[in-house]
Amino acid sequence: MPRCHGTPTCPTGIHGCYTLEGMPKPRKFRAELRKNRSSRRRSGNLTRAVAADPEHGSDLAASERISGKGDLTRKRTVIIHDDRPVGGDGLSVEPIAGSTWRGQVMHVHGLESVVRAPDGRMVRCTTRRLLRTLFTEQRHPVAAGDWVQIRTDADGGVIHSIEPRRNSLCRASRGRRHVIVANVDQTVIVGSAALPDLKPGLIDRLLVAAESAGIRPIICINKVDLVDASKLVPLAGVYARMGYTTVLCSAVTGIGIARLRHELAGRVTAIVGQSGVGKSSLLNTLDPNLTLPVAEVSRDNEKGRHTTTTARLIPHALGGSFVDTPGVRQFQLWELVRAEVPAAFRDLRPLANLCRFPDCSHTHEQDCAVKHAVADGLLDTRRWESCCHLASSSTGDPDAGTAPTHDEEYE
Ligand code: GDP
Ligand code: ZN
Repeated sequence: MPRCHGTPTCPTGIHGCYTLEGMPKPRKFRAELRKNRSSRRRSGNLTRAVAADPEHGSDLAASERISGKGDLTRKRTVIIHDDRPVGGDGLSVEPIAGSTWRGQVMHVHGLESVVRAPDGRMVRCTTRRLLRTLFTEQRHPVAAGDWVQIRTDADGGVIHSIEPRRNSLCRASRGRRHVIVANVDQTVIVGSAALPDLKPGLIDRLLVAAESAGIRPIICINKVDLVDASKLVPLAGVYARMGYTTVLCSAVTGIGIARLRHELAGRVTAIVGQSGVGKSSLLNTLDPNLTLPVAEVSRDNEKGRHTTTTARLIPHALGGSFVDTPGVRQFQLWELVRAEVPAAFRDLRPLANLCRFPDCSHTHEQDCAVKHAVADGLLDTRRWESCCHLASSSTGDPDAGTAPTHDEEYE
């Protein structure tokens, strides 16, 4: 694991700053002192005063500091208590005095965040300037889903600290990390039994993305009213055997909805899946208070170049929230890294350890345990093909994101 350099701009900062014993240590950081907080250094226009009365200059020497202050005095030392877990993320700065409350960020809009208070109120908050100064490696220090400490003053709420993140969906944005949403408990991968046809390759792709992000996936096959449900059993069985919660449902007949309700209660759930599979219909059925537009949305509309990356948490009646954002929905923001693909295939992963070559691609190598397992009927052929396809179409560079696939089955 790369070691953190211990600075706010450390490229490995996502791993936390750890000592050899694995214990977090506080980091010291020199932060710029805000200009409007420092007192005025001169009482008037010194040049004019001295020009008018040269004698005056000698008096000033005792009372005025004529030389500029050194760089040091314009900064202050801040200690960052970086107690985030390995692989986690988040920022917590020096403890705050005074009364604060804890809330979850629903939405970030520019410099303003909408935070949900414990009583359900939505409070508009700004972010403490220090957090913005410290965490310049991120496009914005606060993300939807963050748990934050708020202090309310005359102007409204101010975010004073951000709790360590359990997980996050990120993308690279002009050399900086853009956290789209944090602390997602699970993701529901929605496919439809028909109209549009089920795409198992796409489910596999989304499973890899969820596994790589450390987010629990739930597989949901909607519109089962349109087909003979028994035809879905073999496919659902493959996923269920791997330990994935797999729900066959219909927003029209209500089948499977009680099971989904049980799974979503009290959790933050990202809803993903291609356009038209019935995501909005399902959400509206799960919480009748929601009135999300249901339509046959053109793929071009939703997958356009200008897909919004701003995530929004939508609180629902089951005591949790949905993350329902075009960029997350259409998984444009779910990056796949080649090296992580086979490890995210739960059924293939244990077999890969038995291959002769540690970097086996499971395609042409001799003594490939994965290929043997496929030949012996121990591993689903389609899953093996899926893994090879996703590995070959994803990037080797963790920061570059996924190379676009032009394969219908995986889009
Ligand atoms: P989204 O793009 O994934 O949000 O899909 P929508 O919720 O907008 O639904 C797309 C279309 O599928 C609409 O015409 C819905 O009425 C229809 N639909 C949604 N769920 C079901 C279902 O369970 N069964 C059937 N037969 N149609 C459904
Ligand atoms: Zn192999």
